[in-house]
Amino acid sequence: MQVDYIIVGLGLAGLAFSKELENNGKSYVVFEDDSQNSSVVAGGMYNPVILKRFTPVWNAISQLEIALPFYEKLEREFNKKYHYPVDIYRIFKSVEEQNNWFVACDKPRLSNFMIPEIDYKKHDGIVADFGYGRLTNTGRIDTKALLADYRKNLQKKDLIKNESFDYDELKITKTKFIFKNIEASKIVFCEGFGLQQNPFFNYLPMQEAKGELLIIHAPKLNVDFLIKAAVFVMPLENNFYKVGATFNWKDKTKLPTEEGKNELIQKLDSVLSIPYKIVEHIAGIRPTVKDRRPLLGKHPEHRNMAILNGLGTRGVMIAPSAAKSLYNHLEKGEELDNEISIARFQ
Ligand SMILES: Cc1cc2nc3c(=O)[nH]c(=O)nc-3n(C[C@H](O)[C@H](O)[C@H](O)COP(=O)(O)OP(=O)(O)OC[C@H]3O[C@@H](n4cnc5c(N)ncnc54)[C@H](O)[C@@H]3O)c2cc1C
Repeated sequence: MQVDYIIVGLGLAGLAFSKELENNGKSYVVFEDDSQNSSVVAGGMYNPVILKRFTPVWNAISQLEIALPFYEKLEREFNKKYHYPVDIYRIFKSVEEQNNWFVACDKPRLSNFMIPEIDYKKHDGIVADFGYGRLTNTGRIDTKALLADYRKNLQKKDLIKNESFDYDELKITKTKFIFKNIEASKIVFCEGFGLQQNPFFNYLPMQEAKGELLIIHAPKLNVDFLIKAAVFVMPLENNFYKVGATFNWKDKTKLPTEEGKNELIQKLDSVLSIPYKIVEHIAGIRPTVKDRRPLLGKHPEHRNMAILNGLGTRGVMIAPSAAKSLYNHLEKGEELDNEISIARFQ
């Protein structure tokens, strides 16, 4: 079997890169072993405002210009819905936060998203004594459904191997990579936190962050917006909500824990004053990087070997534009921005 590319990993990074290859008529095969699940459990939110400090997220507007059409094209291709526009209601904790909101609303980059008023409307079951700041043009991507459909489609076309990519078995010659019976001109690693096992790139400073989430059923909560306070409460359908997320920099397993669950319950109880039932508890590891920027580029020695990783807490927004930048770098020789290039760590 001869292909242009081997891709290792089918999370959001691998998906976006394989789509980029498909759009450009390149052949590929993907390896996926389900060792990581960040993209599957993710909240899937996109939002260009940091909700702690009301400051702009790095490059978010230009990322969104590529990301939203990317997901909408996939919706048309699979005739399924993945993109759910959802407003965000940020609960204020104090008068000071209300004032900071108005200051941020005046910033040109945020004015399309932040509504310059305080919303005091009461919503049954939500504790919000200082009212809400509302964000619009935000939303979520159902990453779990998208990845499942994408994978099925690759399976149909025989473009995916449901197995672990064993780095020791990779043979590198001057012109190609040989892995078992596959010969490829290039190889791109998209393993998320799986990077730690990769002998070619594990020198890069990933500072992974485990996150846990709950799915709850709250029959008396009827909101179609995302509530953001100590935790986020994101509407799914039929009064189900996703609640998250924790940040843990020590635990490297993707197993849900009692500690994570208790933290989420405690925070959720400060936001909701109505009963709810926990129906699911999930966890994953975010591939975050020390300097909070993606990891893109060619291996210092093997120049046809590359990485697309470090999507951190915002894979939904970053993956499509990062995949495009990496493709243009590998195939058209375009320079990568210093901020995202792994050359910054050499
Ligand atoms: C709790 C939580 C909440 C989140 N919420 C959001 C959110 O609301 N919005 C947002 O934008 N982002 C969110 N994120 C972050 C987002 O999930 C990540 O930025 C993104 O999914 C990372 O994608 P990835 O493809 O790089 O990594 P992953 O999703 O981890 O994918 C890597 C894939 O590579 C596979 N793999 C690894 N090693 C091998 C190997 N040797 N052989 C074969 N396959 C291999 C793994 O099985 C995995 O499928 C959240 C993450 C978590 C954990």
